[in-house]
Amino acid sequence: MDQSQRNASVTYKPLLRSSAYIDGKWLDSTDGKTVDVTDPFTGGVISTIPALEAAQIQQAIDAAQRAFPAWSRTPARERGKILRKLLELINQHRDDLARLITLENGKPLKEAYGEVDYGAGFVEVYAEEGQRALGEIIPAPVPGRKLYAEKEPLGVSVAITPWNFPLAMLTRKFAPALAAGCTMIAKPASQTPLAALALAQLAEEAGVPAGVFSVVTGRASLIGDLFTKSPIVRKLSFTGSTEIGVQLMAACAPTVKRLSMELGGNAPMLIFDDADLGTAVDAAMIAKFRNCGQSCIAANRIYVQKDIYDAFTKTFAQRVAAMKLGDGLEMDTDIGPLIDEAAVEKVNEHLDEALAGGGSILAGGRGEGRLAPPTLVTNVKSDALLTREETFGPLAGIVAFETYDDAIRLANDTPFGLASYVCATSGETIHKASRDIESGMVGINTGLISTPYAPFGGVKLSGIGKEGSAHGLDEYLNLKYVCHAGL
Ligand code: ADP
Repeated sequence: MDQSQRNASVTYKPLLRSSAYIDGKWLDSTDGKTVDVTDPFTGGVISTIPALEAAQIQQAIDAAQRAFPAWSRTPARERGKILRKLLELINQHRDDLARLITLENGKPLKEAYGEVDYGAGFVEVYAEEGQRALGEIIPAPVPGRKLYAEKEPLGVSVAITPWNFPLAMLTRKFAPALAAGCTMIAKPASQTPLAALALAQLAEEAGVPAGVFSVVTGRASLIGDLFTKSPIVRKLSFTGSTEIGVQLMAACAPTVKRLSMELGGNAPMLIFDDADLGTAVDAAMIAKFRNCGQSCIAANRIYVQKDIYDAFTKTFAQRVAAMKLGDGLEMDTDIGPLIDEAAVEKVNEHLDEALAGGGSILAGGRGEGRLAPPTLVTNVKSDALLTREETFGPLAGIVAFETYDDAIRLANDTPFGLASYVCATSGETIHKASRDIESGMVGINTGLISTPYAPFGGVKLSGIGKEGSAHGLDEYLNLKYVCHAGL
């Protein structure tokens, strides 16, 4: 398939955009500057998007401010109806959206379908949840007074999203924002802006009014600067690296914005001797290799207790070796290309360092170009590079441990605290480990924990705030206290 045939696999043409979406209009950059969006598998161009000028970003912020009063006063039930219409459209265009995600990100098509469904789930949940932003009536401490607290939308919000889940990382911000009555401007990652633009197209078709949702594209630093400095913007929700997140937090301080920060992870997986072998291998496969390892909750470090070590690594190696590496657009591909060549170099660097430290390869090997094979390396030292930095690729490294205390010490020996995983059957081990591990989320006997129904978020350098569930709605609401005297 040449690139034009690959691009033509998105059959509903309005979903493959080459303009930004501001105030209900599709716009090019006023100075004509553009950026290419490339297909990670071929390197070919999928589309060319505008590198907007500062005045155009400001136009989006102003439009979001103008649209806020009417949208925030629209009954939550009406906003929910528009979100439900959007949900219908996402489901109707499921095939095209999945192919668009694979084209711009490279991930296997079966995983892109998973992302569309996961992303749609946030729209589904918040179409309902937005109607349950309930307040409180507070028993008055003195006579003649009525005290209450109500939740109100906090205003104009902005979202900065990463390339690893181009649709779902946006809908988990967009859906609660709009359901709460906020307006939103999104800046997708420059590698993968097309899913966000497709979402804008469907949002427009669903009846989201002009200015309520805009998508801006172009230079990240320019957009970040305008977003963070603007006194109109009351909220920033960011998913990306801790390094950029910290810069954005500092830049938001002078205007005291509300923040949701979903930052880097370095998830440990602890496999105890009493774990069920099949369950542990299944959990490790999905926690490590989902999205080609390019997930902030990917099991980055796998610690296995000594008695189950040999059986676990043998079965795990067979499963890893059986995975198919190749073109994401083919339905039987398990691991597609990584986002760029630098990502593959990083995986190679982690692998080389683990091998130099005495590790042995049981499956896979070094990557080349944008393709990194699914790889398993055992006998990894507990201070190896791959245990300290996010690998963000399909490389699993196994470290042996002896006691419960060793496992917890290794798991917590990181400044990050997003997700963690535990495989065991003893109730005591499970409860103790989920108590002792410092992370925002714990998966027990599973490697797949993400769902729009649960609060997703980290502790330590992994961020602040929650996405998903009723807690994700609160991130877009202010609690206003009213004291009515003289009654
Ligand atoms: P990743 O390693 O996932 O690319 P980044 O933190 O670099 O993580 O990127 C996440 C998002 O933040 C992307 O949309 C990217 O364009 C954006 N970004 C990167 N640098 C800046 C910046 N200085 N200001 C605002 N956004 C930025």
